[in-house]
Amino acid sequence: MGETLTVRDKIPFTMSLQPLIYDLDLLDFVALLDKWGEPAYRARQVWQGLYCRLWQNPADFTNLPTALRLRLSEQFDFNVLQPLKTLTSSDGQTVKTLFRLHDGQAIEAVLMRYERRQTLCISTQVGCAMGCTFCATGQMGFKRHLSSGEIVAQVLYYARLLQAENKNVTNVVVMGMGEPFHNYDNTMAAIDRLNDSDGFNFGARRFTISTVGLVPLIRRFANEKRQVNLAVSLHAADDALRSSMMPVNKAYPVDEVLAACRDYVRRTGRRVSFEWALIHEVNDTPEQAGLLAEKLQGLLCHVNAIPLNPTVGYTGQPSSRERAVRFKAILEAAGIPCTIRLRRGIDIRAGCGQLVSVFSV
Ligand code: SAH
Ligand code: SF4
Repeated sequence: MGETLTVRDKIPFTMSLQPLIYDLDLLDFVALLDKWGEPAYRARQVWQGLYCRLWQNPADFTNLPTALRLRLSEQFDFNVLQPLKTLTSSDGQTVKTLFRLHDGQAIEAVLMRYERRQTLCISTQVGCAMGCTFCATGQMGFKRHLSSGEIVAQVLYYARLLQAENKNVTNVVVMGMGEPFHNYDNTMAAIDRLNDSDGFNFGARRFTISTVGLVPLIRRFANEKRQVNLAVSLHAADDALRSSMMPVNKAYPVDEVLAACRDYVRRTGRRVSFEWALIHEVNDTPEQAGLLAEKLQGLLCHVNAIPLNPTVGYTGQPSSRERAVRFKAILEAAGIPCTIRLRRGIDIRAGCGQLVSVFSV
């Protein structure tokens, strides 16, 4: 781990004023091309070029008349994400990319290749407003929301990279920088755009969204009955401890979060995952495990426990293997399924809660 330099120190600031091409839905293209006096089938050609062929340059659209290509390139920004730096973990399985956005801000996103899966971890905000003490993104504060197109473009970037190896993205976890439910509309618009069966056609069930526990949005998500998997970051089973780690707990305490999760399961019939970063002698105690097991009784759920990943601004330590195993055993004895996740990509700071807008390794 080396020096950290902010992106703005290194990259000259230039602002693109054009709308981002990936911010448009198919219906937006239909309306736009109609306004431009183009035949209706052109909208679908543009859409399929972007989302089936994964073309990223107006010049690639050779099936369109030159004048239309030119008009698109003049009116829209196609270069939505500019990769600035890519790091590969020592085992070669995790790749993290730092992208510059059109306004000079930056985000990171991660590709994880394990067995036959190619899982992406994507960001929804530059920074995060939730301020969880143990999270590097939270430590940098909130800069801005990503637009739906900026979220979509992260998936397309890696899809192109994998396409060159005859591989596909198999799963997308919305667990990168930011709180997706704080940027709810853009996050869902991005998922819907990638889900379109005439375009990228990425099944909703292959997405997992992780939330810090914004109760009204969990309820909204439940009402929308989406097929997207839901994960909730719990990390502590009582309010005093959770509030000390996650300021959002003061607004939405543990029992309210769990009540919303129970409603979610009742309404959708879907299982909810709880995330738990195991921190030595903080939340890995038998008391926390016991209280958690009590509170999750009868709920269709799963606990994903992951030893804490190190971040610059937090002094807590990851739990030992022994303590993690004991935590899991207490939950399982009470009938709550629990998996201890492996920490991956830590050498390039690509693990959960380690993503930031800087050259961090
Ligand atoms: N904002 C969302 C999603 C992004 S964070 C959320 O908080 O759920 C993705 C996951 O990483 C969350 O479960 C988060 O609590 C966890 N996390 C954050 N910092 C971590 C760290 N230092 N070590 C392990 N997990 C961490
Ligand atoms: Fe934001 Fe999630 Fe990090 Fe908390 S853990 S600060 S909600 S990104």
